[in-house]
Amino acid sequence: MEKINLKDLNYKELKDWVLNQNWKPFRANQIAKWLYTKKVDSYDKMTDISKDIREILKKHTQFDSLQLVSYKKSTKDGSIKFLWRLKDKNTIETVFIPEDNHNTLCVSTQVGCAVGCKFCFTTKDGLIRNLSTAEIVDQYLQVQRFVGLEPEKRISNIVYMGMGEPLANYENVKKSIQILTDKNLAGLSNRKITISSSGIIHQILKMYNDKEFPQVRLAISLNAPDQKTREEIMPISQTNKLQELMKVIDNLPLKAGYRIMLEYVLLKGINDRPHHAHKLAKLIGKNKKKFKVNLIPFNPYPEALYERPEEKDILLFQKILWDYDISAFIRWSKGQDISAACGQLRKKEISNLIKI
Ligand code: SF4
Repeated sequence: MEKINLKDLNYKELKDWVLNQNWKPFRANQIAKWLYTKKVDSYDKMTDISKDIREILKKHTQFDSLQLVSYKKSTKDGSIKFLWRLKDKNTIETVFIPEDNHNTLCVSTQVGCAVGCKFCFTTKDGLIRNLSTAEIVDQYLQVQRFVGLEPEKRISNIVYMGMGEPLANYENVKKSIQILTDKNLAGLSNRKITISSSGIIHQILKMYNDKEFPQVRLAISLNAPDQKTREEIMPISQTNKLQELMKVIDNLPLKAGYRIMLEYVLLKGINDRPHHAHKLAKLIGKNKKKFKVNLIPFNPYPEALYERPEEKDILLFQKILWDYDISAFIRWSKGQDISAACGQLRKKEISNLIKI
C-alpha cells in the first residue's frame, strides 16, 4: 500500500487522520508544529513525540516528496534556483528570490504545462502531470530549510508562477494554499500569496465562487492588448477570449487593498510598440485602480522565438501607461545568470542527462 504524505492533508484532514490512529487530538498540533514551524527533515527530530508513535509515522507515511538534484545561486542578486526530482523521477523547479524587506518563493504546480504560451520554455514538452499538494507544499518547506530559518531568511511571499498553470491543477493548488495559510499549519498571510493564471475564465470564476478557496491575490498573464496578438503568442486565447477575460476580471469582487496584477512579457517587435501600450491602456479602461501592470522584459533562452526589447522601448512603454494614470512596474528579471525563466534549468538538466 502506498504511504500517505501528511503534507497532502489540510488541518481538518490531519486531525481526522490522527484520530483514526486512535491517538489523542493534541498529536495533530504536535506533528504540525514540527512539520510547519520547526520544519524538521525527519520524524526522528520530533523529540517530544514518543518513539513508538514516530515508528508508526515512519511506517505509514512518507516524509519529503522532493529530492534536491542541483541548485544555482545568482552572483548578481542572490536568487537561487532549485531543481528537484520527484518520486517518479520527473523534475521540477522552484526559485527563491531575496528582496529588500522580504523573500519570495516562486513555486511550480505541474510537471510541464499544456497551455502552450509561445514565449515559455516550460511548455516545450507539454503537460506530464499535476503536482500533488505535498509536492507543492514541500517546495516551500524544503527551500526554507535549505536557506535557513533565521528571520531574515524567512519566506513571506509565495507566487504560483513557476512551471504549470495553477488553475489547471485546481484541487491540489487549493489545498496547498489552505495548508500554507492555515494558522495551525504554515500560517503565511493570504495577502502574500499570488496565483498567476494564463486566464482560464471558467476556472477563475470557480475560484472566486469557491468558499473554501483561501482569498489570495490574482495575477493574469496577459501579454497582449488585443485578441489577434494574444492568440499568436498564447493559443489559449482562442477559447478564452481577451474581451471576455477582461470583463470577467473587471467584475471580480476583491478584498480591500487587493488589486489584480496584469503580467505583460515584453517581446521585441511583437507587443512592445507604443501603439500596444495605448491599446493596453484602453483595454484596462476606467477601472484602472483595480489593476497593476507588471512589465517583464523577455528573458531570452537558446532557440527562443522572441527577443528582449531595447531598454528605451521598455521605459517608453511604461511611461505611456503612466500617462494614463495606470500603475505599471518593470520587473527587471532576476536570476538571468542562472536561467531563471521557468523550465530552463530543468531543460538543461534533461539535456545533460540525455548526454550522459
Ligand atoms: S507561461 Fe505559464 S501557462 Fe504559459 S506555457 Fe508557461 S507555464 Fe504554462
